[in-house]
Parts: sequence; structure tokens; C-alpha cells
Amino acid sequence: MSDLKAVSFMRSLCMGQIEEDVVLPFPTLDEDERETLRGVRDSLEGLLGDRAEQFRKWDREGELPGEYLEELKQFGLFGLVIPEQHGGLGFGSAAYSRALQEVARYDASTAVTVGAHSSIGMRGLLLFGTDEQRSRYYDKLATGEMIAAFCLTEPEAGSDAASIKTTAVRQADGWLLNGNKLWITNGGIADFFTVFAKTSNEGRGKISAFIVTKDMPGVSIGPHEDKMGIRASSTTTVHFDNVLVPESNLLGEEHKGFKIAMKILNSGRTGLGGGSIGAMKHLIELSTQQANQRKQFGKPISEFGLIKQKVGQMVIDCYATEATVTMVASLNDRGFEDYSVEAAISKVFASEALWRSADEALQIAAGNGYMCEYPYERLVRDSRINRIFEGTNEVLRLFIALSAMDDVGAQLKELSSTLTGVFNDPIKGFGVLSEYAIKRARLAAGINLERGVFTKVDQRIKRPCVIFEEATSELAIAVDRILRKHGKDIIGKQFASKRLADIMIDLFVLACVISRVDTSLRANGPEQAADELRILEVFAHQVQRRVRENFHGIDENRDEDIKAIADHAFEAEKFSWDTI
Ligand SMILES: Cc1cc2nc3c(=O)[nH]c(=O)nc-3n(C[C@H](O)[C@H](O)[C@H](O)COP(=O)(O)OP(=O)(O)OC[C@H]3O[C@@H](n4cnc5c(N)ncnc54)[C@H](O)[C@@H]3O)c2cc1C
Repeated sequence: MSDLKAVSFMRSLCMGQIEEDVVLPFPTLDEDERETLRGVRDSLEGLLGDRAEQFRKWDREGELPGEYLEELKQFGLFGLVIPEQHGGLGFGSAAYSRALQEVARYDASTAVTVGAHSSIGMRGLLLFGTDEQRSRYYDKLATGEMIAAFCLTEPEAGSDAASIKTTAVRQADGWLLNGNKLWITNGGIADFFTVFAKTSNEGRGKISAFIVTKDMPGVSIGPHEDKMGIRASSTTTVHFDNVLVPESNLLGEEHKGFKIAMKILNSGRTGLGGGSIGAMKHLIELSTQQANQRKQFGKPISEFGLIKQKVGQMVIDCYATEATVTMVASLNDRGFEDYSVEAAISKVFASEALWRSADEALQIAAGNGYMCEYPYERLVRDSRINRIFEGTNEVLRLFIALSAMDDVGAQLKELSSTLTGVFNDPIKGFGVLSEYAIKRARLAAGINLERGVFTKVDQRIKRPCVIFEEATSELAIAVDRILRKHGKDIIGKQFASKRLADIMIDLFVLACVISRVDTSLRANGPEQAADELRILEVFAHQVQRRVRENFHGIDENRDEDIKAIADHAFEAEKFSWDTI
């Protein structure tokens, strides 16, 4: 069992191996957790259910009122992930994600406020804090007496987080912190900041993490930002001017801040995922009611194929997102050592599925959808941020693809040094190769292609599994081919990386849907699981189509032309053709 926890499903998949024990059976919450969550759901309905008008008003005003924040604190929403002995609910990743889902059904600004506190603001303390640090802050964070914020981004350091300029210089009695942070969620209401600062001038990215509290002299907060969406959540600059941070507030090891930041984001991803699912479920409710009620051409628009197509896709996207986020939460809760690629995939898929759903929901409501009187335009504005924060989807796609290639690349080095003469004497040659290299060499020699297969899924879902298996062996070949073609230059080949990332995203999500449907089929039987089977069949078909196109694009593409067209525009800084 301990070996399994060292396995990354996606890293293995890129080498042609389907580690089905990682994703099967589909994870479920235990009865105690379900019971607690049912209670949370019902009480949240009481707390948030009748506030639609207020949420609309607060969105326009761009602020959550203090009395409302007090109610959230009283409810315990800031203590979701804090251990019970410190006054929290002690939720693991799956229960936390589910709780945020429930909050996000009502209001994105509230979900982001609560989520930024638990997913990233105080998660460094949860993951890396010493016992003394935890006992100093947990109780106050659980009650919301202290709200937490995560301070990484700076005016000149967004995606390139390693280039931050905020400095922490060691003193006899602590660290002197100077710098400015930008777009900090909860900035205006937080008392507890996880701050990242440079602690050495040698090399790039020698960063450390610190706990900074608002009462430390030299901490100041900028005004509320006026934003497109999640307008009622607080976003501000945070400034540190000669702030003396005590030695005891160093979080984790000195100079390990970059890794700490990445681990925090990784561990907190199911919060954003849960929020996306909650919003999607809300959109499905709104869209189905709207389409049933609205009549055109003498019938409800829900009877038209093009409306059914949109709603059907929204349901598929929601089911697939929930399968994926639940799986990632379970990898976290089961103690898997490395699920960073899977977590990044869940963030990209969830945020894009939500965006598609919000856009289609607005289209179904059409003119009404465009009016501020209705909730759709706000839901579109609120959804957009998810593709930007906690790592942009572009940067996460590069991470997804390059992580896979990094692993395979390491194995390739082994292959190239041992391959000489192998094909003259395969048996002898194969003996000196690693398991991976054997597979590669066989592929290269066209010998007996060994495929990763699902062996434990229900035979009734064989067809989607075959789609998955075929794409897996193609993926392994594609990773190999891309690496051989570009070598280290792959870092600069973003078109190729994006295709690979898109294939990996589709395959991981499909694996999660297969697992969810397989488990449901066994538990509920084919009749009750008929609609879920249908979702799986359609989703697998869609994946097959997209994946084929992406594989095809690896060799056949017009990438260089597109780059040239873009370069022309960058040079001119305008559209160069006119018709008058
Ligand atoms: C509402 C809101 C709340 C936020 N909350 C927080 C918070 O609480 N804490 C915090 O620290 N930060 C927060 N952020 C900051 C957020 O994480 C950053 O906006 C995000 O990381 C992207 O940085 P950037 O906006 O500077 O974009 P840039 O990094 O400048 O990127 C611009 C564009 O270039 C792309 N790009 C960048 N690098 C590459 C590359 N190597 N290859 C290809 N494309 C690339 C990006 O994907 C993007 O499309 C928040 C932002 C917003 C808008």
C-alpha cells in the first residue's frame, strides 16, 4: 500500500502505464462525514438561502458588510479545515471541497472569501507550521477572529512568482520585511498574512515564507480594488515597510518558500474545484427552470435541440468536474505523495467547465441573461477569475506537460546511453534496460506493443475504457516523440506542450469519470446508473475526438504560421489590413 502512495497516476500514464488502483474504486465519504456535511448543507441553506437580493446589492457595492462577515464567523465557516480541538471542523480535503461547493451555490464572493482563508491564506500554517505556531493562531483562525490571506503576487511578479522583489533581511531578533503585494484576496479584512519574500540575493527564487500579522508596525493595506467579478470579496494591495517579523514567525524552512507556495496552492486546489462545482450546479438549476418556462414558437425552449445540447453539455461537464475534483481530494486525503499534476488538471478543467457553463447559461436566458436584474451576467463575471488566479491556466498547462516530460526525459537519458547495439541483440540489450526503456525500445523497434489496460472495471463500460487505453499508448508514444524531436528545447515549444497538456487533461478526467461510473454501476445496477453510463459514453466520445485532433496536430500543424502572424501584430501593434 505504501508503494501505491508514491505513484502519480498521470506521470505513470505518460509512460503507458494505467495505475488503476490509484483511481479505483471511486472515493466516497464515510457516513460520519456525510452526516456532518448534510448538516452543513442544511444550515447553509438557512444562512445563505434567502439572500439573493443582498448578494446582488453587495456585488454592486463591491463589499461584504461587516455584520454578514460576523455571521459567517459565527457559523464556523472560517474553521472548516482547522482541527476540532482548536475549534474547527477538522475537514479533510474532500469534505472541505464539498462544503465550499455548498457556499458557492449561493454566492461566489462569499466562497472566495472563505476559500482564500482556508485554501491558501492559512494553509501554510496547516502544512508547515510548528506546534507552537499552530497553537498560537489556530483558535483565532477557526473563529474568524483572524481572517487569513496569501501574499505572493507583486506588481512585477505574477506567473513568474520566483521573481518577487519583497525582501526579508535577517536581523539579530528576526527579519526585516520590505515590499509590496498586489491583488491580495481578503487583504482588507485579514489579520493573518502568509507572506513570501526573498531571503537571499544569490540565485533566483531563494524565497522564504513568513507569518505576518496586521498589528505588526509597518503593515498597511491599500484600498479595495474595483473588479469585474467576485466584486464583494476584498482584494487589496498589502505593504510592508520595515516590518520586524520575529524569528518564530518563519514558516517552514528558510529558502524553501517557493516550494512551500507551490505546495499550498496544490493542497488548496480542491477548494477552487469545489467552488466551481457549486456554481455549475446552480447554473444548471437556473438554466433548466428558465428553459422550461420560456416559450417561443409556441413551445418551451427546453424542447429545442440546440438548448438541449447546451444543458446536456453542462450536465456532462459538471459530472466530470465533480468526478475529478473528488478524486484529487481523495489523493490528498489518502496521503499520496505527489498529485500535483492531477491537482493542476482539476483546476484547469473545473475553471474552464464552469466558464463554458456560465456562458451557455447566459445564452439560454439570452436578453434576460444580459440584464443585471437576472443573475446570469454576475455568474459570468464571477466565473472568469478562476482561469486566472491560483496559477493561470496557461502556466498550469505548461506545468502539466513539462512535468510529464521531465520524468520521461530522465528515463530517456538512460535509454540513449544503453541503446547502442540493442537492436542487434534484443534479448541481451533489453536485459540492461529499465522497464520503461524496454517499452520504449520495443515501441521504437515496432516489437509487440504492450498496452496499459484497465483490468478491474465493469465489462459494461468496456468501450470507454478501450478509448482510454488506446489514447494512453498513443500518449506514451507522443511524449517520447516530442521529447526526441525537441529535447531540452521543449521548454520553448509551447504549442506542442499545450497539445500534450490537453490530452493529459482529457485522459485524467476520463479516468475519473470511468471510476465514478464504474463504482455507481456496481452499487446501483445498470438501470439506476443508465444516465451516468450515458454521460460516460458521450464524454469518452468527446475525449476521443479531441485527443485524436491533438495527436494529429503534433506532427501536422501550422504553428509556425500562427507565430509569424502574431509576431507581425506584435511588431505593428495593430491590425494591419483595412478595407477602406
Ligand atoms: C481577483 C484576484 C485575486 C487574486 N488573489 C490573489 C491572492 O490572494 N494572493 C496572491 O498572491 N495573488 C492573487 N492574485 C494574483 C493572481 O494569482 C495573478 O493574477 C496570476 O498569478 C497571474 O499573474 P498576472 O496577473 O501578473 O499575469 P502575468 O503573469 O503577467 O500573465 C499574463 C498572461 O501571460 C501568460 N503567461 C505568463 N507566463 C507565461 C509563460 N511562461 N508562458 C505562456 N504564457 C504565460 C499568463 O497565462 C497570462 O495569460 C489575484 C488576482 C486577482 C485578479
